[in-house]
Amino acid sequence: MNVLECENQVSRDGRMTAKILDGKIIAQRLKDQLKEEVDVLKKKHGRGPRLVNVMIGDNHSACAYANSQKKVAEYIGIEYDLLNLSTEITQEEFIEEIKKLNSDSAVNGIMIHKPIPEHIDYSKVADFVDINKDLEGINVANIGKMILDQTKIIPCTPASCMEHIRSSGINLRGKEAVIVGHSTIVGKPLSLLLLNEYATVTVCHIATSEAGKLVEHIQKADLLVVAVGKPGLIKGDWIKPGAVVIDVGINRVDSKIVGDVEFDSAKNKAGYITPVPGGVGPVTVVMLMRNGIEAFKVQIRGKE
Ligand code: NDP
Repeated sequence: MNVLECENQVSRDGRMTAKILDGKIIAQRLKDQLKEEVDVLKKKHGRGPRLVNVMIGDNHSACAYANSQKKVAEYIGIEYDLLNLSTEITQEEFIEEIKKLNSDSAVNGIMIHKPIPEHIDYSKVADFVDINKDLEGINVANIGKMILDQTKIIPCTPASCMEHIRSSGINLRGKEAVIVGHSTIVGKPLSLLLLNEYATVTVCHIATSEAGKLVEHIQKADLLVVAVGKPGLIKGDWIKPGAVVIDVGINRVDSKIVGDVEFDSAKNKAGYITPVPGGVGPVTVVMLMRNGIEAFKVQIRGKE
C-alpha cells in the first residue's frame, strides 16, 4: 500500500473512517515517474512524444480542460498542440484532418476532444485514428487488443481507476468487484482490466436497478466502482464494511461537483474511498499522457 496517497480520516465522534484515495497525490507521483521516463526517451531518441488534441469550435469548458491537459503535458515534458477546427467542418473533412495527422511522423498521439457537433458521428471518426496514435485507447482495434492483453494503450478513465485501486493495496485475486455502469469508455473496459487481475467481476446497469437488484450486488462488493452520472445514487449503508470505493461520477448539483456515491455516509462504511472532485479525474489526465508515451515507444520501435 502506498500510505502517502491515503489520508486517514477521523470523524467528529472520534471513529476512524475510510482512507481517502487522493487523486492529486497519485497524479503527482505518476507525473514524476512519467517525467523521468520522457527525459530518458529524449536523451535516447533526440525528442519526446508530441500529442495533438483535435477540438471542434471553442467551447469554454472544453478549452479549460484542454488547458489543464497542456499543463500536465508540459510538466512531463510532452509537446501538446491544440488543433482547433471550425464548427462548419463536415464529417468527411474531419476524417481528412485525422488522416493527415495519422501520416505525420512528427505526431505521436491524437485525441478528439468532446463534445463534438451532432452532425459528426464520434465513434465513426474515432475509428479513423491510427491504432498506434490512439491516445484515448478507445478505437475498436485498441479495444480488441486490450481483450487479448496485447496493448499498453488503455482507456484513460479505467486506467485511472486501476491506479486508485493499486494505491489502496487491495489484492484483487478472488475478490468480488462490482462495477455500476457499463459504458464503452468506463464500465466495459474496466471489467476486462479487473478480470486480468483475477477479480470476480459483476457489471450492473440500468436493468439491474430496474430489477431491484442493485443493492444486493453492492452489499457483497469488496471493490465497488460507480460510473453512472447520477448524484448520490449509491447510499453509504449499502456498502460492505471496509470496501474499496471508486467514484467516477461527476455531477453538478447547486454549483457544486459531486459523485455518484453519497460520500458522507459511504466514508463511514468503506475502507478506502475516492473523493469527488479530486479523485479519479486528476489521474485520468495523466493516463492520457501515459498513453502518449506508450504510443511514442511503439512508433519508435517500428522505425528501429
Ligand atoms: P454513460 O451515460 O455512458 O453510462 C452510464 C451508465 O450508467 C450506463 O451503463 C447506464 O446504463 C448506467 N446507469 C444509468 N442509470 C443507472 C441506474 N439507476 N442504475 C444502474 N446503472 C445505471 O456515462 P459515462 O460512462 O460516460 O460516465 C459516467 C459518469 O462518469 C458521468 O458522471 C461522467 O461525467 C463521469 N466520468 C468521469 C470521468 C473522470 O475522469 N472522472 C471520465 C468519464 C466519465 P444503461 O446504458 O443501460 O442506461
